[in-house]
Amino acid sequence: VGQAGPLLEVQGVTRSFGGVRALTGASLAVPRGRICGLIGPNGSGKTTLFNIITGYERADAGRVRLDGKEVTGLAPERIFAMGVGRTFQITRIFARLSVLDNMLIATQRRERWWRSMLRGAGSAEEVERAMELLRFVGLAGHARALAGELSYGQRKLLELAYVLVADPELLMLDEPAGGVNPTLIGQLAERIRELNEQGKTFLIVEHNMELVMSLCDQVSVMSFGSVLVTGPPEEVRADPRVLEAYLGL
Ligand code: ADP
Repeated sequence: VGQAGPLLEVQGVTRSFGGVRALTGASLAVPRGRICGLIGPNGSGKTTLFNIITGYERADAGRVRLDGKEVTGLAPERIFAMGVGRTFQITRIFARLSVLDNMLIATQRRERWWRSMLRGAGSAEEVERAMELLRFVGLAGHARALAGELSYGQRKLLELAYVLVADPELLMLDEPAGGVNPTLIGQLAERIRELNEQGKTFLIVEHNMELVMSLCDQVSVMSFGSVLVTGPPEEVRADPRVLEAYLGL
């Protein structure tokens, strides 16, 4: 199993919400060690596909394989435990807890986090690891600040640090640059490249085309619930079908 095939493989996934066909047979392969972009107009099904891959929603049909193993329909925590880290379009951090406590919750995610908070979370080792990751994303100086006091872009960096605690093999980022200032976008891109050099695989939904085209090895374009084209950025950019998808011709 695994190694030779793609790290993530999605085959013919469909999903309807009432009469809305959000996914109409989406297929996608994410090779190990790559940075893959997932783009497409609003409503083309990117978020629904992310939700199905990570277990937050079920598919009506089709399958999802991780490292050759079928994970279709597994709960989010199971998929997370299998090495898929995910960030959200709207960050899911605890605004009233400190930045460091948010990180320690990630450390404790496999047990009940409130229990670990009650007994005073964080061995020295866990705190050290959390601080190391905060340094990596440039937030170590904010460790004691309330997460709710961070800027929008800093919250996104915190969420990246948060998912890194579990040392996932695949990182799925949902609009990491959305609403983030150019300086922080640059930092974020650098961190993604570094992590990729360390062997992490990425699947990134992003509307910032400049970022997608400069960062990704492979770009997939969704339209009306399925993946229309997959290829290197320069090829995808020049594909007339992609322009059509965006212009709705
Ligand atoms: P994207 O992320 O590309 O913007 P989405 O996956 O969010 O696309 O949405 C695809 C389609 O499915 C849209 O028409 C959207 O309105 C619909 N949709 C997504 N989630 C739901 C839901 N929970 N209930 C009803 N419709 C939904």
